[in-house]
Amino acid sequence: MISNSLTEPQAKKRLFIGLLAGSLLAVLGLAGLLYYLMSHPTTILQQVLLVVLIGAILLIMVVVAFGIGGIVLTIWLAKTIKPLQPLMRVAIGLLFPVAIGLGKLFNIDTDKIKRSFIEVNNQLVRTKELKLKPSQLLLLAPHCLQKSSCPHKITTNINNCKRCGGCPVDQLLDIRERLGVNVGLATGGTLARKYVKEYRPKAVVAIACERDLSSGIQDSSPLPVLGVLNERPFGPCFNTQISVSQVEIAIRYFAEVEN
Ligand code: SF4
Repeated sequence: MISNSLTEPQAKKRLFIGLLAGSLLAVLGLAGLLYYLMSHPTTILQQVLLVVLIGAILLIMVVVAFGIGGIVLTIWLAKTIKPLQPLMRVAIGLLFPVAIGLGKLFNIDTDKIKRSFIEVNNQLVRTKELKLKPSQLLLLAPHCLQKSSCPHKITTNINNCKRCGGCPVDQLLDIRERLGVNVGLATGGTLARKYVKEYRPKAVVAIACERDLSSGIQDSSPLPVLGVLNERPFGPCFNTQISVSQVEIAIRYFAEVEN
């Protein structure tokens, strides 16, 4: 049986959602503290400022609460709830750094939280049930997949790869040939954005580490991105590997491919 998860090791979605909710409560507590500290204003102007400030904070809290509710409901019902999607993006954008900070406070590994976020994102993307042509899909992979001793300049043009089979770039080109998707090899966010501009995909399958995937997913929003974690048997950013089956599963979520 094929695993439904695209990220290894397995990360629990409830970790990220729990931290989001915890962040919301922490900010709400701060708002209450602010109200308490400013509850004895002396002038009318101070009173007006206080009401405006508290009103703005409460409005943001309501938006974020609906956003978190939208995430939970979407995962629970396995169905996209379109009106709540902008609020879900706002909730993630605002509270992601707070959740990471809260995790540090409780000594939770940052990569574990990011894996949980990627898992939540993948689940939300799957509920969209997009059916695209392979040509509307972009497979983005990091440059660190290339064997460190390979002399060929493949970041400027992936076709410079001689297909020797010495690293996973050969497998990426095999996927491109078999499934007909676009493939881009990026050294960082700038080149990744260039590929998105060039190919104008309707969806992206991105291979990267926890840090790059979580920032890339947020940067690309609302473009749907399915994240697949790379494997790092030799440590970070060096001769990294991919699971071809996981990449293919991600591509097949989006695109109808024949073989
Ligand atoms: S498959 Fe061979 S030629 Fe291609 S990038 Fe890897 S090592 Fe270089």
